[in-house]
Amino acid sequence: MNIHEYQGKQVLKQYGVAVPEGNVAFTVEEAVEAAKALGGKAVVKAQIHAGGRGKAGGVKLARSLDEVKQYAEQLLGMTLVTHQTGPEGKVVKRLLVEQLSDIKKEYYIGLVVDRKTQRVVMMASEEGGTEIEEVAANTPEKIFREVIDPAAGLLPFQARKLAYAINIPNELVNKAVKFMTALYRAFVDKDCSIAEINPLVVTGDGNVLALDAKLNFDSNALYRHSDILELRDLDEEDAKEIEASKFGLSYIALEGNIGCMVNGAGLAMATMDTIKYFGGQPANFLDVGGGATTEKVTEAFKIILSDPNVKGILVNIFGGIMKCDVIANGVVEAAKQVGLDRPLVVRLEGTNVDLGKKILNESGLNIVAAESLADAAKRIVELVK
Ligand code: ADP
Ligand code: MG
Repeated sequence: MNIHEYQGKQVLKQYGVAVPEGNVAFTVEEAVEAAKALGGKAVVKAQIHAGGRGKAGGVKLARSLDEVKQYAEQLLGMTLVTHQTGPEGKVVKRLLVEQLSDIKKEYYIGLVVDRKTQRVVMMASEEGGTEIEEVAANTPEKIFREVIDPAAGLLPFQARKLAYAINIPNELVNKAVKFMTALYRAFVDKDCSIAEINPLVVTGDGNVLALDAKLNFDSNALYRHSDILELRDLDEEDAKEIEASKFGLSYIALEGNIGCMVNGAGLAMATMDTIKYFGGQPANFLDVGGGATTEKVTEAFKIILSDPNVKGILVNIFGGIMKCDVIANGVVEAAKQVGLDRPLVVRLEGTNVDLGKKILNESGLNIVAAESLADAAKRIVELVK
């Protein structure tokens, strides 16, 4: 789960990570009030769950209250398109009005869970403010890493090593070490999966601050972080994914045009691979789970069909616990209920498969009963062309 920058900064502050003063604003009036509290000058920052706002015009430096008002009016309600939002962009509904920092230099600090070492790794670079992916691609030698032992935590010497490696001024190394230590504590304590501070800055008055904060949390751990769960902003999430989660369906929206409905995550992955192998593009990942009832299948159909990009659907279900004829009846029933208007290919395998296929073929609906997964994928790819 992602949260907004201003929320991330509030969480980090609780752990002693230095962040600029600031307040969230939902209206122009609130933005002006927040700027007054900061003495008039402020940075007005669009709050969306995506980075690259600076380049896209979502971060404005205001020198007066009039400018704060002007920028708040401009940003609130605007659709911001950054390299991370996709071409449709995201509507700005909240602003962070923040103290203007006197930036001497920008750095990068990130924490991730590294699969290879199975440890949390702290990454640091002198190339802050820019996209770290670009630094990794063009000048990987400018990114330094420290693998953290979970029993010992981030050791002071590791933080110092990173601070020196990225050329933090000598007199500020202690502050940088304190910053990194606090960031690591927050990361572990709140079960983060990513913490990215880009940029970390050194200021004219000798401070080390997080000017940006991107925190991502492990969804499987949210049950023990009710405070974090409260920060969830459904406006920032895919409406179809929210709907699916209500019915216990694991759904992830993708960019293609073939809707997929499968039971079991592994089979769903294999189905997507097979569609791609035959030249198609899946529109989603969808695991309806083991006990796929008619209700669940109907809801799944509705969610898939609400995506205007979907030109056809592939259902791939293994009837193990659930028999194929029961599934076939469910599919037919659901297709009738939702008024299916796009080609549907169904591949069933397992107990009572012949009876299942018979039900599909005799339904009078536009349903193709496929012989195998490859056959099903080929046919749906052909049909959506
Ligand atoms: P994004 O990563 O989405 O572009 P950032 O929060 O990193 O957004 O802001 C982009 C740039 O704007 C920063 O690299 C920094 O130069 C500037 N900036 C952001 N916040 C402040 C601030 N409080 N004071 C001064 N400059 C800021
Ligand atoms: Mg940033």
